[in-house]
Amino acid sequence: MDCIFCKIANGEIPSKKAYEDDQILAFYDLDPQAPVHVLLIPKMHISSANELTEENSQVVSHIFLVAAKLAKELGLENGYRIVNNCGEDGGQTVQHLHFHLLGGRSMKWPPG
Ligand code: 5GP
Ligand code: ZN
Repeated sequence: MDCIFCKIANGEIPSKKAYEDDQILAFYDLDPQAPVHVLLIPKMHISSANELTEENSQVVSHIFLVAAKLAKELGLENGYRIVNNCGEDGGQTVQHLHFHLLGGRSMKWPPG
């Protein structure tokens, strides 16, 4: 399958890793939107939040637990934002489920 995040997960495309285990990978975004901008992905290909099911969604809670640990390790004591863009209106550009962990600056609300 021609999916860049599957290729990052299997090492075919290099990335700067922040965390890895058997289920998930966290790596630094190529085009950071904040001083800390890490992407967390399941290693298994799931196209978007719309493709989550009772069977495959446990990985999402795992991603949130790792994101909180990473945020602490990366010095985001003052807070952070976790973002999932889903579909065209959500601004999703890579069709492999991912969560942005953003921090190191004050975030605006609502997002643009
Ligand atoms: P989306 O817009 O789908 O929510 O987020 C996709 C993100 O993936 C963007 O922030 C983009 O900068 C990042 N990205 C796209 N291709 C690559 C890549 O090859 N390596 C890394 N590290 N990040 C990528
Ligand atoms: Zn994929």
